[in-house]
Formats: sequence, structure tokens, C-alpha cells
Amino acid sequence: LRIDVDALKTAIAEDRAAGFKPACIIGTAGTVNTGAIDDLRALAVLAAEEDLWFHVDGCIGALIAIAPENRSLVAGIERAHSVALDPHKWLHAPFEAGCSLVRDAVAHRNAFAVTPEYLESTPRGLASGQWLHDYGLQTSRGFRALKIWMSLKEHGIEKFGRLIDQNIAQAGYLTELIRVEPALELTAPTTINIVCFRHRLDGASEERLKAFNTEIMLRLQEEGIAAVSDTTVHGQHCLRVAITNHRTRRDDLDLLLRETLRIGLEIKAAALPD
Ligand SMILES: *Cc1c(COP(=O)(O)O)cnc(C)c1O
Repeated sequence: LRIDVDALKTAIAEDRAAGFKPACIIGTAGTVNTGAIDDLRALAVLAAEEDLWFHVDGCIGALIAIAPENRSLVAGIERAHSVALDPHKWLHAPFEAGCSLVRDAVAHRNAFAVTPEYLESTPRGLASGQWLHDYGLQTSRGFRALKIWMSLKEHGIEKFGRLIDQNIAQAGYLTELIRVEPALELTAPTTINIVCFRHRLDGASEERLKAFNTEIMLRLQEEGIAAVSDTTVHGQHCLRVAITNHRTRRDDLDLLLRETLRIGLEIKAAALPD
């Protein structure tokens, strides 16, 4: 579920040979479906060798860089030319607050700055500072940075780092519970805070497994037990647990699996002919 770096090398060479001009390598620090993290160090080296821009989609995982126990998972991200990250995910900021960081401030400004007369700056007065609209698409824009700055001031970066480590440890705990439960199976390796698994159903086709697990998911949601989502990994439909809440406790994860098994039994019992 990660970029195959050798295959990427070959694809770049093939593109060049065909007259295309590759511009950028985009690595992912935490995919949506499974939380997989690319080998960011290897991608940084390749981007340098090939003279390509290196961007990291770190919407989920860039912030792992502040988590003491897990920061090595995103090693190499510091070499990116640009990084996207979402404070409204693992920094617990209220929706919405997306963020992108660009290393080369001049390139960043040149990409967006336009100066019609009504936006020209003056050496003094109200128009003498930096225009924030020179760094993005919007001209009129809300001050989303304020809520992030406030919560960093209030809680401190260390606390957010600890909470990320805590969620990753909880995902590891949940993964172990699933591994030892014969009625359940993992459908992807757990790297960070995302766990993909499904309820088994002996001899069932993929189609029936999907219907069965979808019904489990909907009942978990509708009965107010847990907000589990679903996805498909390597053709296997599965339930997806993403743990980002600072209030989550291991008890909650015990409950989730207990209820998954209970609902599984209920559905099977109802489907059996008398
Ligand atoms: C959430 C997410 C995005 C973009 O989502 P926004 O919430 O619109 O910023 C992009 N990539 C990944 C991997 C994500 O998890």
C-alpha cells in the first residue's frame, strides 16, 4: 500500500523517454484507507536525483513528526519542498483548517501574488504589511490560523504529540485484539491510528461478506455504539476504524469488538432458516 520506489524510477524514465516532463513526486504520510506511509526518505533522495519537486500529503500523518514515540515513521518529511497537513484532523482544531507549508517562500509567493492597483501595498499605513492572499487562492479569507495558534498556546505542542502517540498505541491494542479473535480478520497492516478489519463468514463470497459487514457497520452507527466507516483494500471490503479522539479509552475499543461480534451473531441468527 506504499509507492514502489523502483517502479516509480522506471515510470519517470519511461515518461522522459516518451517526451513527457515529470514535475513532482507526491508521497503520502498516512493514506486515508489504511494509514500507510510511503518511504519518504527514499522519495526525497529520488526527487533530488531526478530534480523533481517533492510534495508530501501529510493531511493525516505529517503531525506524527511531533509525536516522540512515532516520529521516525515520517522520517524524510523534513526534506519535502511542500507539505499539506490538516490541523482539523490530529491537531483537534474545529473544521475547517487545512494548511500547506512551502519551503521556498519566493516560489510560493510568485505562484499566487497578483497586484492590481486596489491591492498594491504602500510603505506605511494599513497596506504596509504582507498580504496573506499572496500565498493562496483566496483574497477575502477567514482567520483560521487564530484557532490553531490559540490551541497551541493553550495546550502546547508536547500535549498534541502525546495524544498522537496515545491514538497510535490504541490502534496497536485494537489490532492485537482482532488478531487473536477467530471470528475477525485484519485486512491491512496497521501503521498508525487506522485499523482495517472484517468479520469473517465461513465460505461466503466477497459479495456476501460485504453485505454482512456493511450491515454490522450500519447497526454500530445506528445503535450509537461507534462511528466506524468502511472501505475496500486489495479488493476486500472491510470496516475502518480511525482513532483520533483524545477521549478514546481502551475500554471503548473492547466494547467496539464485543458489539461487532454480538451484531454479527444476531445477523447470522436472523438469516438462518428455522
Ligand atoms: C483529509 C485528507 C485530505 C484533504 O482533506 P481536507 O480535509 O479537505 O483538507 C487529503 N489527503 C489525505 C490523505 C487526507 O486524509
